[in-house]
Amino acid sequence: MTVRRYLIAGNWKMHCRRSDGTALAADLAARVGPTPDPRFDLLICPPATILAPVAHAVAGSAVLAGGQDCHAQAQGAHTGDIAAEMLADAGASSVIVGHSERRTNHAETSTLIKGKAAAALRAGLTAIVCVGETEAERDTGRAEQVVAGQLSGSIPDGATAANTVVAYEPVWAIGTGRTPTLADIAAMHAMIRAKLVGLVADPDAVRILYGGSVKPSNAAEILGLADVDGALVGGASLKADDFWAIAQACP
Ligand code: PEP
Repeated sequence: MTVRRYLIAGNWKMHCRRSDGTALAADLAARVGPTPDPRFDLLICPPATILAPVAHAVAGSAVLAGGQDCHAQAQGAHTGDIAAEMLADAGASSVIVGHSERRTNHAETSTLIKGKAAAALRAGLTAIVCVGETEAERDTGRAEQVVAGQLSGSIPDGATAANTVVAYEPVWAIGTGRTPTLADIAAMHAMIRAKLVGLVADPDAVRILYGGSVKPSNAAEILGLADVDGALVGGASLKADDFWAIAQACP
């Protein structure tokens, strides 16, 4: 049986300034210390403006820093965009791509996201590729079909368990306090695992995160499911106690 380390990833979205962001990062770094927990990796993804000071605040600890998005190109005339190489230069080890807020607010397609994930790999970053259905898609029985399509469209060539993580985030569960049933989460993660065959070299070893209203009170039951290898956490990642409690819920 393949043993996968849990990944607990915090997506800070458009929150935190330098002072509170570095304080939160330093708090988590002090809890984790210099040696990775045997159960999980802890990753925080602050806004790009404070990535460098946050990476500095966690340096020397086992806490990792990441970006929330990147451009597909390494450089060029792309006003306002940030290359994966620039995130790496600022101290990132990972980058989230294809978050539903990017897919919706910026009309990002799976083809574009595949290019961004490929850029992450090119820059030596781990790509955290997000997929997830809307409520209407679930209500009409198309959730698995939609997620399968996003996966096959977004996973880049050369993806392996070492450089790629999948995050299943039902759009309707993000920031709403609502979550799918445990059976629905387990079914979707099993489908994703099966779908990864042919998309990555080592599908059994790829970490598949669940995201969408994960909090201390539901983390243990979600993280205890087969094929759930961690969590992508939004709101609860902004409070050190809550984020830490979620990490501590890893089996
Ligand atoms: C997210 O945006 O990735 C997310 C999971 O948010 P929340 O935990 O707040 O639902």
